[in-house]
Parts: sequence; C-alpha cells; structure tokens
Amino acid sequence: MIIDAHMHYFRIEGFDELARLAEHENSRRGWQEICEANQIAFSVAMGNSYDAPCRFGGVTPRLINLGGEPFCAQPYNQPDNVGYCLGVQSEEITPDNAEKTAMEFEYYLQRDPHCLGIKFYMGYQNVYLYDPRHEPLFELAKACDVPVAMHSGETANHHGRLRYSHPLTVDEAACRHPDVRFVICHAGNPWIVDAFEVASKNENVFMDFSGLWEHRLTPEREQEIEEFQRYVRMWLNYHGIWDKIMYGSDWPLINIPDNIRNLGRIVPEKHWDEFYYDNALRVYSRIKVIRRMLNAPKE
Ligand SMILES: [Zn+2]
Repeated sequence: MIIDAHMHYFRIEGFDELARLAEHENSRRGWQEICEANQIAFSVAMGNSYDAPCRFGGVTPRLINLGGEPFCAQPYNQPDNVGYCLGVQSEEITPDNAEKTAMEFEYYLQRDPHCLGIKFYMGYQNVYLYDPRHEPLFELAKACDVPVAMHSGETANHHGRLRYSHPLTVDEAACRHPDVRFVICHAGNPWIVDAFEVASKNENVFMDFSGLWEHRLTPEREQEIEEFQRYVRMWLNYHGIWDKIMYGSDWPLINIPDNIRNLGRIVPEKHWDEFYYDNALRVYSRIKVIRRMLNAPKE
C-alpha cells in the first residue's frame, strides 16, 4: 500500500492539461481510478484553491476542490481517502493580520480531521519561511500537532525568487521550532544534497520526493534520468535517513505508475515500506485518525 504525501487536487485548466500530458484525467473519478489501480490508500493534497470564506479578517487558507465545489469541511465533501494541507498566501500576511490569519487556519484544523497540515509556497511567495509573519502559524502547527510543508527548489513560474525556496532556509525555521515537524517538498531539487543535510541534522525535518520528473516518461527519458537516480541514491545511502523520506507524486504533473517505478529505483527495496507508507503516516499523523474512522484494514 502507498500513501501519496504530496499531490494536488485542484480544478484549473492548467492542471487539466498537465494531467493529459501524464495520460490521466484531472477529476475526482480520475484520481480514484488511479488510487485503485496503484494501491494508493491515502493522498495528501496541497491546498491551491481560493474559495475559502474569510471569517476573522485574516488571510484565508488555500483549499482543495477537485472532489466538489465549493470545498466544504462539515460535512467533508472531498473523498475520504484524500486529506489536505492549508496553503499559505505569505505575501498577503502583515503584522496586523498575522494572528487573524492563524484563526482562519485554526477553523479547519479544529473541525476537520482531513485537515493534515500547513503548506508554505516559498519561491512562489517571495518571503522566507522563517519570516516573523509566519510565527502564529508555526504556533498553531505545534498546538495541533500537524506538520509544516514548504515548497523547495525550482519553481514553475517566473514570479518566484529561488533564494526563498532553498532548503537551507528550513534549517533556520526548524531550529527555532524544535516541536514542529517540517517537510522539505521535492527534496529541495536540485539542491537535494542540501535538503538531505538539513533533514539529517534536524530531528524534526522530513522530505517528500514529489515532482522530480514530469508528464509521461518515455524510455529515452527514463534512460536520461538514470544517472540522476544513482546520484540521489548515493546520498541517501550515505546519510541512511530512511525514516525521513516520503513518496509523493505532485500529481497531475506526472504519470503515476511511471513515478512509483522510478522512485523505487532511488530507494533501496528494503526501505520501501518506510518510504511508500510508514513515514507519511508518522509525519501526517492525522491520517491514522482518518484511517481508524474508516476502519481501514491495514495500517
Ligand atoms: Zn506540489
């Protein structure tokens, strides 16, 4: 069984097109079929939509909506096997609205077990993770015992400045907040070695391996990335941080069987249980609660 620790569940034209390039369909049914065909028991969706109502005068979290629009937390109108991280619009947060923003986020974290964590979009948002404006959100993550995930590495548009998405910036935030779990998304790619060092040094830092390639992988492309896979595997073996790595896809960016197969070439087979399932269950620990609620046979 697999937990996808990083995917997107958002209705937007650009994602429909990405899904087509990966030979999938960006729809509720499309994702459920993929999960059944590939033994994906649960998925963590990173919030993208902008339809959250403002309740406390803060900056609203970005949610998910592919399962039905608009998003509803009570009763939950997205699939039971999809949870979500609340997306942060860091550039909109000011000293005046930072506390109110945490209240907007708390609304979901308190009510909805499917709300699994908080996702920061560094690089897309030109703000450092450790900026003081994020402090109330870190306090909230600590109080609710949910992880903080940060986009890291290359960005898909030109607005972003790469210095904000460097994985070394997570070291600062993780040191200041030893009681909060941090996830370096995309393993910092291409600064993978830096991400490994930050995760190796800090007990509270983890990585997901989503978004390392895109679309359908042709045989030629699979050959081209072989060297890259060996390089990442070398550093993984060097650090031996098997409790820190999580499977992720960044769907709809990538064809799922292609992604599962190719990430399996990076992680040695004897560590597949940790990589594909166990570590995500520990980091996004609310998944345990949901799986218990659903009476899932395997944990
Ligand atoms: Zn992503």
